[in-house]
Amino acid sequence: MTGPFDKLVGDARAAFDKAPSKPLREAWQGLGLADIRRDLVQRLLAAGIDEAEIEARHMLSHVLAPATLAEALADPALVSWQRIASLADLAWDRLARKPLSQVLGSQPFWTLDLAVTSDVLTPRADTETLVEAVLARCPDGDAELLDLGTGSGAILLALLSERPGWHGTGIDLSDAALGVARGNAGRCGLANRTRFARGRWSDGLADAAFDIVVSNPPYIVSDVLAGLEPEVRDHEPAMALDGGADGLDAYRDIFRDVRRILKENGLLAVEIGYDQGAAVSALAQAAGLADVAVLRDLAGQDRVVIGYNGENR
Ligand code: GLN
Repeated sequence: MTGPFDKLVGDARAAFDKAPSKPLREAWQGLGLADIRRDLVQRLLAAGIDEAEIEARHMLSHVLAPATLAEALADPALVSWQRIASLADLAWDRLARKPLSQVLGSQPFWTLDLAVTSDVLTPRADTETLVEAVLARCPDGDAELLDLGTGSGAILLALLSERPGWHGTGIDLSDAALGVARGNAGRCGLANRTRFARGRWSDGLADAAFDIVVSNPPYIVSDVLAGLEPEVRDHEPAMALDGGADGLDAYRDIFRDVRRILKENGLLAVEIGYDQGAAVSALAQAAGLADVAVLRDLAGQDRVVIGYNGENR
């Protein structure tokens, strides 16, 4: 005799069998959380992931919420098989070297928590140097901010979150990225001070429209890309990383037109690779920007180039 529960159990069984993470789910069947955690850390290490313990903690916290890991370790009743199935799904993707940000669906940046997909570069702590550089030079007030190649919207939204008087425009070539950025503006409560538009750098933007222009453009030398970690090489968008034969293509494009769209004495701030300080500041000077400077990140590496639109400074 079969009843309604047999169908439910059958459906659950079928879903279990279809999940790509089935081998992990099976390996963890009948294990307690402490053993699952140990096994997860060892599998991450075997996959070449160095920060295995902290990453395992992030994945466990994600599936156990609102319970904490400590609470769940102390009380097996908090650990359902559905939560372990979710953990297996996350772990399966991470073991295939998908970035943790994409596996969890979000990444902290500045004081914000931003949605991240494979359509955008994962916001990196290095980029907070650019945010700090702009904040240190630009007090609050009525200002128009432009972010070229906005991706997730990280730089734009971090700056707007600190400067309630500012309005911001984010430009990107990718419609999918713009979707992520718009979602993040809403998530951060900043949608009313942002606009997003598809475009190639500053093409089509009005003359002298912006007080501040920021960008973290693609700056990796094309030949270097293939040697990067699989998380970056295989899962992040190449258009956000590939800077062409010498890594400087995007700076040439941006600098060619930036004085046209900047107001008099407006600020340009771009992120650069650790070995691009001399080359990018030379390009900025050649473009006619004044007071060009190279700034370092917390690790002491060159990370940001700034310059102003004005001869009279
Ligand atoms: N810093 C990034 C990396 O090394 C590159 C970001 C970029 O090209 N804008 O992966």
